[in-house]
Amino acid sequence: MSISSILFILVLAAAVGLFARNVRRLVRNIRLGRDEQRNDHPAERWGVMARVALGQSKMVVRPVAGILHIIVYAGFVIINIEVLEILIDGIFGTHRVFSFLGGFYDFLIGSFEWLALGVWVACVVFLVRRNGIKLKRFVMKELDGWPRTDANLILFTEIALMSAFLLMNAADWSLQQLGDPHYVVAGAYPISAALASVFDLTSLSSGTLIAIERSCWWFHIIGILAFLNYLVVSKHLHILLAFPNVWYSKLKPRTEMANMPRIADEVKSMMDPSVPPPEPPAPHAVAGVEMTERFGARDVFDLSWKSLMDAYSCTECGRCTSVCPANLTGKLLSPRKIMMDTRDRLEEVGRVIDAGGKWADDGKSLHTRITDEELWACTTCNACTQACPVNIDPVNIILEMRRYLVMEESRTRPALTSMFNNVENNGAPWAFGQDKRLDWTNS
Ligand code: SF4
Ligand code: SF4
Repeated sequence: MSISSILFILVLAAAVGLFARNVRRLVRNIRLGRDEQRNDHPAERWGVMARVALGQSKMVVRPVAGILHIIVYAGFVIINIEVLEILIDGIFGTHRVFSFLGGFYDFLIGSFEWLALGVWVACVVFLVRRNGIKLKRFVMKELDGWPRTDANLILFTEIALMSAFLLMNAADWSLQQLGDPHYVVAGAYPISAALASVFDLTSLSSGTLIAIERSCWWFHIIGILAFLNYLVVSKHLHILLAFPNVWYSKLKPRTEMANMPRIADEVKSMMDPSVPPPEPPAPHAVAGVEMTERFGARDVFDLSWKSLMDAYSCTECGRCTSVCPANLTGKLLSPRKIMMDTRDRLEEVGRVIDAGGKWADDGKSLHTRITDEELWACTTCNACTQACPVNIDPVNIILEMRRYLVMEESRTRPALTSMFNNVENNGAPWAFGQDKRLDWTNS
């Protein structure tokens, strides 16, 4: 086995090992959330996933961005079929091992090249939209710092990867023309052959061309392996999570609020003395410590696992915020920020668990990041959930956090406090008891 193959296997093993560790941590973090059943109606779920995740049906609502995104998505999925060939070549020291496919191989390589060009162009357009045209949803304050850098970094990386892919093929094609015995004549190169002609690559020596081809080959595969591990700390995690996240979508009507069974039982018992009050919830172990169920959400442990998966699946596209009536009328609320804050808090909690082996209260919570003002600005219109291309539900997090404010902290808006008191005392939102309801008939 050659040194190159040994080196390749070591790099591959390290990248896959690191990725497996990152995935384990991700799954552990998502499982910090409360249990929730989302396995019902599997046929309907597959249909939603096929339409929304595979078919990108919500992306094309904005056609320019939608079509460009589909090109990048198709390019990412299809060009990476070539990674299989790279892996086999890297391990066994072969070159273009699938070239025996003949005409079909030509078709594949030619298609990859057109897609690579499409991805290259789409990424340049995305960079211009973000940094040149500065669309409002891409220059909002919540994207300052790492989120903006992350978005640009990934676009530059994809441009670099596609450039390396085309340059690698251009050098390969040139070596094929020069009759180098290692470079089997195979594949169709509609873009890279044109590049090779423009830059007159066939005038270079075989040694220089091999150096270019090998450098691009290594850059391409190391770039892909690095990308795989970078995903986990990036908004681009949606590449992996979009499909399961959409599969577990809420199937009920968007605006239907989740009931709180324990409260419903409590109320039933208050209204009917024959109904016994519910048992207090038993403490349960999460991240190595005993926790009791709360009313609403103080921290990530009180949200359902699906809300935590939502947070990791957020692409930070801002489509939700751009249709949010609260945000559009100048309120502090941005549903995208709700998702980003939830993910940041979940990551923070994960780091505490990593450091100590179990959860240790750090004195912070979701409410440290998300203010009451943001929470109370939500009208629960669900325009955000309708707009989200990966069926994320920020409203559920907002409602759970509000429930905590009301039921555990008694922190509400002044206008709501009297309504809550009236409901509690009079069974109605008005300041009159039930015995006074028909008084108007006497006047
Ligand atoms: S449900 Fe709330 S967060 Fe979502 S769009 Fe409406 S107001 Fe904004
Ligand atoms: S919640 Fe959905 S729409 Fe909003 S930023 Fe995240 S992915 Fe985009």
